[in-house]
Amino acid sequence: MNFKTHYSSNKGRESSVLIIYTGGTFGMAYNYEKKFLEPLSFDKITEYIPELAKFDSNIEIISFGLPIDSSHISPNDWKQLAWIIKEKYDLFDGFVIIHGTDTMAYTASALSFMFENLNKPVILTGAQLPIGYLRNDARENLITAIEIASKKNNGQALVPEVCIFFNNKLLRGNRATKVESTNFDAFMSPNYPELAEVGIHIKYNPSFIRQKPNAPFEIQTELSTHFSIIKIYPGLGKELFQHLLDAPKTKAIILETYGSGNAPLHKWFLEAIEKKIFKGIVFLNISQCLMGKVNQNRYETGKQLENMGVVSGGDMTMPCAIAKLMYILQNTKENNLISMKLCTSLRGEMSEMK
Ligand code: ASP
Repeated sequence: MNFKTHYSSNKGRESSVLIIYTGGTFGMAYNYEKKFLEPLSFDKITEYIPELAKFDSNIEIISFGLPIDSSHISPNDWKQLAWIIKEKYDLFDGFVIIHGTDTMAYTASALSFMFENLNKPVILTGAQLPIGYLRNDARENLITAIEIASKKNNGQALVPEVCIFFNNKLLRGNRATKVESTNFDAFMSPNYPELAEVGIHIKYNPSFIRQKPNAPFEIQTELSTHFSIIKIYPGLGKELFQHLLDAPKTKAIILETYGSGNAPLHKWFLEAIEKKIFKGIVFLNISQCLMGKVNQNRYETGKQLENMGVVSGGDMTMPCAIAKLMYILQNTKENNLISMKLCTSLRGEMSEMK
């Protein structure tokens, strides 16, 4: 793997954290000529956060490629992140990924599926205001993320999960979603409690944190993008719907439905879905509601989907559903297995279906 080292403080301390910088607002500076924010080189990071040298951990900061706005993130970048962490796994106690906030929840979800038997913290963080600004959230977010990534209890990582740390909240990565573009409180975990709250102390909630696995760490880096998403809205017509269903190379479709997983009962609508299911396309039902869960047995408008074999996405967020589908479609061939895995919690990404 090719990467650039920006900073290294190997002082023989007890713990060690690798920081992987990918870009985002965190490391941006204002270009006064062009009048917009653009990524800056990370070589001068210690000028902005001199505290890095004071940590009780050895810290190394690396990056691969040019820093990017996270709108440009792709499964290929996730693959690179997964490989770096795999290569450096035994050398560090924890990992921090500095990432743009726009797609942070997608990256966190994807990594959670790509990593099997993760027993070290992988904490994604970023900022709403760049480190180069006098008033910013970047500094606090990074410092606390490093502390969490290095935290151990009896020699074992306290949070062996892919998480997002942002604005004093530690969230399970595949449960988080970006909800705010202006204020500092950018992320929430709509259907799962916070793993830790940060005030004067960092208050961990151990009962919500995943157990450390007892098997060797592995990565699965290949993902499939052969699926699409169709949002249901009043006025979605027959022709457009059919056109969307007919997109080439589609193996699965996420239906973004109303409320607890409801969609219209039009004959043409249900028949079009049924025909596709018959041809082997998997349908996953994710609600447009941020909170609560899909329950296809509640209304007639959901029951029809259930009867046809549409899979309920429970309380998964959309970024998580997308990442999970990419992972499962790549690694599972049979349709009934795909459907079964979709409605089973693989990495703590959904609550038990009742
Ligand atoms: N556009 C930026 C990004 O996602 C926003 C941010 O980092 O907050 O890269």
